Amino acid sequence: MHRKVDFHKPDITKDEINEVVKTLKSGWITSGPKVKKFEDAFERIYPKGYKAIAVSSATAGLHLSLEALNIKKGDEVIVPTHTFTATAEVVEYLGAKPIFSDVDAQTLCIGVDNIKGLITKKTKAVIPVHFAGYPCDLDQLSELANKNSIDIVEDAAHAFPTKYKDRLIGSISNHLTVFSFYANKTITTGEGGMVVLNNEKVSKRIMQMRSHGIDRDVFDRFNSIKASWYYQVVAAGFKYNMTDISASLGIHQLRRSHIMLEKRQRIAKEYNKKLTYLPIQLPVNCEGNSQHSWHLYSIRLNKEINSYRDDLINYLTKCGIGTSVHYVPLHRHKYWSKKYALEAVDFPNSENAFKSCISLPIHSKMTLSDVDYVCHSIKQGLQEIL
Ligand SMILES: *Cc1c(COP(=O)(O)O)cnc(C)c1O
Repeated sequence: MHRKVDFHKPDITKDEINEVVKTLKSGWITSGPKVKKFEDAFERIYPKGYKAIAVSSATAGLHLSLEALNIKKGDEVIVPTHTFTATAEVVEYLGAKPIFSDVDAQTLCIGVDNIKGLITKKTKAVIPVHFAGYPCDLDQLSELANKNSIDIVEDAAHAFPTKYKDRLIGSISNHLTVFSFYANKTITTGEGGMVVLNNEKVSKRIMQMRSHGIDRDVFDRFNSIKASWYYQVVAAGFKYNMTDISASLGIHQLRRSHIMLEKRQRIAKEYNKKLTYLPIQLPVNCEGNSQHSWHLYSIRLNKEINSYRDDLINYLTKCGIGTSVHYVPLHRHKYWSKKYALEAVDFPNSENAFKSCISLPIHSKMTLSDVDYVCHSIKQGLQEIL
C-alpha cells in the first residue's frame, strides 16, 4: 500500500482564490479595504471594545506588543522553553532578557507553578503559549500577573479558535493576544498575524508602530478628504502591515474556521479512539467549556520505549506519512543554551516531551481513511520496531 499523508496542507477554496483575484484586479493590493474588512470581521467575534490589528506575522505581532508595553533593556520576560524560537527572539529585539521556564508535564503549557520562582523585580511580562491549541490556565496566570504587576502577552499562534472555559482566546481583559496565520496554522493568510486587545492606548501605539511610526494609515491618507500627502512620523517604527492580498485569504479562512475546526475535532476523536491500548500517551483533551483548537496532535511514546521514537518517525516516513516534533525546546538550541547557560536538567518536563513526542498529521484536508492509515501504520511500526 503506498499512500501519502501530508503533515499539513492548507485548506484553500474557490472563495479564497476568487477574493485574491478580485483584489489583484482592484488596483489596491497593499493594506486597504480588505485588511479593514478582515479586522472588522475578527473584532465582531470579540466583546465590544476589543481591537483586532492585522500584521505581517505573529512574530511581528509579538514584537509590536512588547514594544507597546514599553519592554526595554534591563527588563525580563518569562517564556516557555517548549516553544518556537519566535516567542523568545522578540524579547531580544527590544534588548530585554528572556527567562526560560519549564512547562506542565501533561499540557506542555506554562502554569503558575512553573513561573512563580522566576519572577523578579525586573520581570515585566510573561508570554504563555497555548501549546498545540490547548489553553493555558489563564485565570491562575492572570492572578499571579496582577499580583506582581506584570503584563501577559499570549502567544496564540496555535490557538485559533481555542476557548479557555467559555471564553475565546483573545478575550481576556488586559491581555494582549497574538495569532499566527502562517501557512501551516489553523487559519492562514500565507504569512500573517493578528493582535487582539482591549486597551485603547496600547492598540494605538501598535497601529502606529506597525507602519513606520506614522500617525495616519496609508489607506486613510489616500481616501480621506484631508490632504493625502500630509503625515507626521512620531516614532521610529516598523514595516509590519498586512497586505490586502493576504487579508483576502483571511476573510474566507475566518468565515470557514468553524468548518475546519469541526474536521480537526473529528480527526482528533478518531485518533483518540484508534490509538488506545498502545504503549503511547495521547494528548490531553479539553474539559468543560474549554475548547482545543487541535492545531497539533502530539503523541508520546511511553518511557520504556521512547528511545525508539526516531525509528517510528522513520517508519512513518517510509509509509508516506508526514510527522514532526514539537518542539526541539529552546534550551536545546545552540544560541539560547549558550547565551543563557541553559541546562536540560532544569527543564525536565519539556525534555521528556521532546524525547518521546511525535506530532501526527491533523488538518481539514485529511480524510478519516487517512487517519485510519496513520493509526494502522503506527501499530505496524511499533510491532516491527519493538
Ligand atoms: C508559528 C509560531 C510563531 C510564529 O508565527 P509567524 O506568524 O510565523 O511569525 C510563534 N509562536 C509559535 C508557538 C508558533 O508556532
